[in-house]
Amino acid sequence: MAYAEMEELATVEWTLETLKPISDDFEGRPPEEVLRWGFETFAPDIALATSFGPEGIVLMHLVSQMAPETTVFYLDTDLLFKETHNLRHELETRLGIRFTRVHCGLSLDAQAAEHGPALHSREPNLCCHLRKVEPLRRFLATQRAWITAIRRDQTVHRANTGLVEWDRTNKRVKLNPLANWTSKQVWTHIMEHRLPYNPLHDTGYPSIGCWPCTKPVTEGADPRSGRWAGLDKTECGIHLQAKE
Ligand code: SF4
Repeated sequence: MAYAEMEELATVEWTLETLKPISDDFEGRPPEEVLRWGFETFAPDIALATSFGPEGIVLMHLVSQMAPETTVFYLDTDLLFKETHNLRHELETRLGIRFTRVHCGLSLDAQAAEHGPALHSREPNLCCHLRKVEPLRRFLATQRAWITAIRRDQTVHRANTGLVEWDRTNKRVKLNPLANWTSKQVWTHIMEHRLPYNPLHDTGYPSIGCWPCTKPVTEGADPRSGRWAGLDKTECGIHLQAKE
C-alpha cells in the first residue's frame, strides 16, 4: 500500500457510515481480502478472537499464513471443555499460534462467594457478563479492531452481520470475514487443509461453549440449540450491539 494511502487511512474516523460501503464492497470477495484490509489498516492493533469453533480454525489458518504475528486471543471462563484446551495445544503446535488468554480475574470460588453457586444456571446473563463480556471489553480497549468468526446464519442476531462493521458496544472496528460463509464452506476448508478441530463435534456437539451450558443435539436440530438449552438465551452477549 502506498504511503499516502496509509496516511489517509490513519486519519479516517471509523463509524457505521464510513464502514458500510467498505463492507458492501467486500461482499462476494474472499475472506483473505477482508483480513488484508484489516492488517493494512490497523496492525499491530488488531486481534483475532476465537472460541475454538470450526470458523475460528479457518481464520487462524488464514491469519497464520498472512500475518503470523497477529494477536490471537480467547476468553478463558474457567469452564471450557478439556477437549477445547487440548485443541488449543494442538493449534499451537500445528499453526504456531501463541494464544493470549483473557480472563475475568474472578475465580469460580470468588464468584460463588459473591453471587452464589452455579450462577450459570440461575443467572446465565450475569455469568456471561462477568466471565466474557467485561473481560472482552477490557481487552479490546488495547486494540483498534478485532476479528471474529461469526456467520450470518448462526442466529437471528447475526443475520445482518457486515463483513466489516462498527462495534457500538466496544467502540471498535469489527471484522467478520466469514459472515457470508456457510457451515459447509467452513468444513470443506478444514478438511481440505487437514486442520485439527474439536472432537466433540463428532459426538453431537455442533456448537461448543462452556461445559455447563453446552449440550449435545440430535441430528438435524438447530446446531446452536444445545447452547443454554431450555433457556431463552442464544448469545453470550459479546456479539450483541449496544443500542444507538
Ligand atoms: S456460557 Fe454459561 S458458564 Fe459460560 S460464562 Fe456464560 S453462563 Fe457462564
